[in-house]
Amino acid sequence: MNPNDELGLLVGEVVDQLTTVQFYMGGGAAAYSKPAVRQLYEAARREDPEPLSYQAARALVDAISEGDNVLILTGLLSPPVLVPETDGPIGALTLARSLALGLGAKVTVLIEDGFEHSLTRLAPSSGLTPAPSSGAIRPQQIAVAGFPLDEKAASSEAERLIEKMQPKAVIAIEKLDCNTNGVFHNGGGIDMGAVTAPMNRIVDRARTAGVLTIGIGDGGNEIGLGNIETSVRQILAMGMNCGCPCGGGIAASTPTDLTIVAAVANWGAYAIETVMAALLGRPELLHSEAISRRLHDEAARCGYIDPASCQSDGFVDGLPPEMSTLLVKQLHIMLAAQMNPNGRREIFRSLMADRATVQAQVDSWPETRHQ
Ligand SMILES: [Zn+2]
Repeated sequence: MNPNDELGLLVGEVVDQLTTVQFYMGGGAAAYSKPAVRQLYEAARREDPEPLSYQAARALVDAISEGDNVLILTGLLSPPVLVPETDGPIGALTLARSLALGLGAKVTVLIEDGFEHSLTRLAPSSGLTPAPSSGAIRPQQIAVAGFPLDEKAASSEAERLIEKMQPKAVIAIEKLDCNTNGVFHNGGGIDMGAVTAPMNRIVDRARTAGVLTIGIGDGGNEIGLGNIETSVRQILAMGMNCGCPCGGGIAASTPTDLTIVAAVANWGAYAIETVMAALLGRPELLHSEAISRRLHDEAARCGYIDPASCQSDGFVDGLPPEMSTLLVKQLHIMLAAQMNPNGRREIFRSLMADRATVQAQVDSWPETRHQ
């Protein structure tokens, strides 16, 4: 095995654990259930020997070459204020940065029509500038675009995007999906059809075209969690019973090639960035604490809200901005240690290499300690 792959697997295992600790809500749906994130994760992982974050990062590195287009789908309008939440857009931008800097991808982030301007304002805080709305995406840029809410318009736009852009990957992050009855629910079982751009159409198109698809979610009702629909129905209180007239429960129905479950969907993006950094030997592909702070501050200024309170204060899923920044710090420290820049693994091995000598050193300690 390639040494970087070995590192990617090691890092991926730790990353999967760190990003699935449910400090608090862990996605809207989970707020109405007992802590559910670990159960959703176990369902997605099943018996797979490879960590979810490793699978996604490996697939992206293999699929994307310099100049290839990638689509990232995000946006979740929380009632009663009905503006996008912080969970999703922030991770979309940090992952876009990582794919642009690490693989030379030309990333377009899609959000509900009408909110592309606020996402364009938020974009520079990721470290990359937004591309002009009409025109090529240059290196070190991220494009932002709106996606229609109307079903007919959404279907033709999905078709146009896949055919015109020929993306090599489509990644949905905290993007509401419909259940098997075609109804989009938030975690509380509210029918969200009137405020949700049906981006599952893009994923369906992408899958038909053989494009890599990845879904990142934290609640069970997002694109990608359709892979574990049966488990979601069992794990969540509203999995089988949404309480809305559709009667179908909130479980997502759209599958993707790969699924990422995290306690906060943004953290799922951070997980992929961290493993990509390990695979490519470039720690800077995981965004910095400074970028994290800037993004959360700017998200508050741009009006992105915490769905737990509907206030625009940089909180994400009920957790203060420092929580996400501290996680980024932990991920960087872990990554640096695993990348072994000071050769500590070798030093440790050499210290322990001669068992007999080490045993003698331990045994002679009582006589030598006072010398
Ligand atoms: Zn329903």
